[in-house]
Amino acid sequence: LQHKLEELKQMTGSEKMIQTLHVGLAERSYPIHIGSSLLSRADLLMAHIPQKRAVVISNTTVAPLYMQQLVESLKSIGVQSQTIILPDGEQYKNGESLNTIYDALLSAHSERSTPLIALGGGVIGDITGYAAATYLRGVPFIQIPTTVLSQVDSSVGGKTGINHPLGKNMIGAFYQPLVVLADTFTLDTLPDKELRAGIAEVIKYGLIRDLPFLEWLEANIEKLLARDTAALQYAISRSCQNKAEVVGADERESGERALLNLGHTFGHAIENGMGYGVWLHGEAVAAGTIMAADLSHRMGWLGADEVARVRKLFERTGLPVAGPKLGAEKYQQLMGLDKKVSNGKIRFVLLKSLGNAVITGDVPQTLLAQTIEACSA
Ligand code: NAD
Ligand code: MG
Repeated sequence: LQHKLEELKQMTGSEKMIQTLHVGLAERSYPIHIGSSLLSRADLLMAHIPQKRAVVISNTTVAPLYMQQLVESLKSIGVQSQTIILPDGEQYKNGESLNTIYDALLSAHSERSTPLIALGGGVIGDITGYAAATYLRGVPFIQIPTTVLSQVDSSVGGKTGINHPLGKNMIGAFYQPLVVLADTFTLDTLPDKELRAGIAEVIKYGLIRDLPFLEWLEANIEKLLARDTAALQYAISRSCQNKAEVVGADERESGERALLNLGHTFGHAIENGMGYGVWLHGEAVAAGTIMAADLSHRMGWLGADEVARVRKLFERTGLPVAGPKLGAEKYQQLMGLDKKVSNGKIRFVLLKSLGNAVITGDVPQTLLAQTIEACSA
């Protein structure tokens, strides 16, 4: 694992520091630059745009806010952009949008060395990454994530893909970007609800493997919610660092990477049971994490005070701390549909202690039912 946090101490126009992390994946290693005003730092992408042409893919919400700034920045380093604007929404992360991208690339005779740049949240990142993985059997891919969730989670680790009518994220590829630019200024326009949902995944990193970060979050959550630039930058880089370490050790999720699914088995049941889109993913993960903490307590691992501590942090973030009342049977039926089922057994990510997660397939049915009952309202 050759991952390290490097403080480049490069100054941007606004005298803000840029932090650069390295995701260590041998010959597919790549840097993540985190800072404010990075949209105007296309020079950080220069090495990856040999042809002086790039295709920027965004959506109808993000493009009006940030496309012009990025296109001008690319122009200033001599790069011409083609833009592709998709409709906004998870429901458009599908084969049809993918075809829209292929059509535009083929019509413009886009070549194998022309990079695809994703400008947007996780939806745009996932679909652009999959288009980049498959168009001409693979073209360069660059990520410019503009949501908290995409900056701390989906832009790290190389999972790309689209949804299928029969299941979410069912078609995809592992495909790493060449470079990621996470511009904290773009988060200024993010709706509050999306900000909070993204923070659920940030808290997750503290819970599964980074107790000092969890403590930092307990001390600084209000700053994050107020979008304090320094706090955001710290939380994003620390989250990326954690994810990069996990992914660097287990790129294809044969083991440790599954720990990143804390709260997700319950969470997916909630998202699915309520109908996709009714609960944001991060909201479902928050309630799901409370369930996982409660179950960890029933397993004899977490103290009741520790479960209360987890609940308190999600509450302060303004996230749900209980799931909807679907009934234990329905939850279990929905959880059986989860991708993480192995040999017919539901595998849970639980907490041995705060900052220390484990994966277990041995959860007594009665405890599971008790947790679902206690944590849904
Ligand atoms: P999203 O991409 O739908 O973005 C959320 C909303 O915010 C959208 O309406 C979007 O247009 C808008 N938006 C984005 N940036 C904005 C900005 N700066 N200002 C104002 N509005 C902005 O959702 P998301 O939460 O970023 O990502 C969710 C997607 O990510 C899901 O499809 C999920 O499957 C995927 N995901 C992938 C991975 C992975 O490893 N590849 C990990 C987690 C999630
Ligand atoms: Mg998630």
